[in-house]
Amino acid sequence: MPSSNDAWVLVIGSLNMDLVARVPHLPAPGETLASEGFATVAGGKGANQAVAAARLGAPTAMVGCVGDDTHGRLLRDGLRHEGIDLRALRTHATQPTGMALIAVDRASRNHIVLVPGANDTLGTADLDAAEASLAEAAVVVCQLEVPMLTVQQALQRAKAAGKTTVLNPAPARPLDAALLAQVDWLVPNEVEASMLSGIAVTGIASAQQAAAVLLARGCAHVLITLGAQGVLHAHAGGMQHHPAPVVEAVDTTAAGDTFIGGFAARLAAGASAAEAIRFGQAAAALSVTRHGAQTSIPTLREISAA
Ligand code: ATP
Repeated sequence: MPSSNDAWVLVIGSLNMDLVARVPHLPAPGETLASEGFATVAGGKGANQAVAAARLGAPTAMVGCVGDDTHGRLLRDGLRHEGIDLRALRTHATQPTGMALIAVDRASRNHIVLVPGANDTLGTADLDAAEASLAEAAVVVCQLEVPMLTVQQALQRAKAAGKTTVLNPAPARPLDAALLAQVDWLVPNEVEASMLSGIAVTGIASAQQAAAVLLARGCAHVLITLGAQGVLHAHAGGMQHHPAPVVEAVDTTAAGDTFIGGFAARLAAGASAAEAIRFGQAAAALSVTRHGAQTSIPTLREISAA
């Protein structure tokens, strides 16, 4: 376990078990289908970003909630195995662990039913219980898969305590100015940036327009991730485009989560913004060369070797 003198990343967010069934075609209303394959995959944006930060070198703590069930125990064990501090990971007595029920057809189209479960119960008491973790953190990372009020309070407390705050606004939801004022780094992908700015983001030029809108709404820094096109960084001093390393992508699942975890880990270690962005991109580029979500997130050693 890292010492309390190290610069911690604190992730406040969701943990899900994804139940993925491969089906010959997506079911019609009322249809019952036999699957052709099945897998359970650990996920949730919060858990993925915590795993990424931990594998990529940061002492990491997670605030979240799972159910008192097999999925919850598996997710807890997985995070513990990564060395993540789980003092503020609660188990809910009656709600199930968050799940995504996913059917994928032979053409890779999907149907997804999200069951927020225990994630939806994350609240003020959990933030109270995480006070020690917050005090140790240098960087606090949130997403939007837990109640908005909890996200607002988490960012507010983090800012009041002088921490650097990162918000991945996923899934996209409207954000008010009071919340954006608590965010040091807003990190949307193209879809989220489009929804938040009202500008259809399809590349670097439109990302610049969207970023200008988001800066004007009070964000200190905006990082729009653009898949293989890299990242646009916008702030009061200007805008820089950081191209992504060129790799042969086989599966981009969790690329965004890997980028955010790596970026937060380097920021916590005191790196400059440009270094942290480059590092996050190197990690995300390696992740897209592998299949899977959490399984594709590389370690610090693998980044150094690459
Ligand atoms: P996901 O939802 O799949 O986790 P996302 O839509 O949130 O991803 P992206 O913008 O697709 O996030 O990707 C995040 C970062 O990952 C990019 O900014 C880039 O640095 C890296 N990346 C994604 N796809 C590629 C690729 N094909 N080649 C190299 N780097 C990539």
